[in-house]
Amino acid sequence: MAEPEAPGAGNGRLRAGAVMGKFSWGYSSDPGPYRDHNEDFVAARVLTTPDDAWDRPPLFVLADGMGGHAAGEVASRVATETVLDLFASSPVGALPQMLRNAMRAANLAVAEAATGKGRKGMGTTLLAAGLSGREAVLGHVGDSRAYLVRGDSCTQLTNDHSRVGEMVRRRMITPEQAATHPARSQLTRSIGGDPLVQIDLVRQPLERNDVLILCSDGLWDVTSRIELAELAAGLVDRSTPTALALADHLVSDAVQKGAADNVSVVVIHLTSEQPIPPVARRRLLFRRSPA
Ligand code: CA
Repeated sequence: MAEPEAPGAGNGRLRAGAVMGKFSWGYSSDPGPYRDHNEDFVAARVLTTPDDAWDRPPLFVLADGMGGHAAGEVASRVATETVLDLFASSPVGALPQMLRNAMRAANLAVAEAATGKGRKGMGTTLLAAGLSGREAVLGHVGDSRAYLVRGDSCTQLTNDHSRVGEMVRRRMITPEQAATHPARSQLTRSIGGDPLVQIDLVRQPLERNDVLILCSDGLWDVTSRIELAELAAGLVDRSTPTALALADHLVSDAVQKGAADNVSVVVIHLTSEQPIPPVARRRLLFRRSPA
């Protein structure tokens, strides 16, 4: 797990990645040019060697905390770490249900942490992505986004749980008006407030050379879908060597553009036609024969 770079930097700069047999992944997170603290948090659980919970699929989590720096950085970290812990420690089941259970636990953990001094109003977005078989499953609350880049097109897979996002869905304003709307960071759903928060689950079939991008609003606020598709094309034509290199590039590009907020991104590049072994098949691989 990455550690904060310096005291007072919140969650600091975070960076990790690896090239696996079937996919390449990487994440990068930066406080950005105008903020002292990083209130975003990002983590992944991708095993390369068996451990006690080896039979869980690869999992990536991104959270964007709020409530002032002493609270936001705690909320995003507690939410992310709770999802990863629950995912590794609870019984193996269908991936959507595992994600929902882990995110519900994260919601309660953040609500509990918010009872501490100076943490009133603490909350976070939460976006988790698991890979299994030929699909990605996303669990989502808030206005962090998941995109799928396939060929020239970049599709947003998640709805923004924000006032402005709702207005766009009801066609009260256009996406162009939303991009500069003063209320665009007001969330309608977040982790840590409502004990019964509704968690969106999205299932997305995957193909070879798909690029999945998870990001906080610090990135999507200054990076268009067209730019995401153009930059992700570098992974497919190999001018960008790894998912981590693309993640770094996306963050430094957003910082250069003067991103007003913390900037975080996870990139996953599917490099194989072969499915990521589903949980049940992995379990069979290791099941001991009856004595
Ligand atoms: Ca943010």
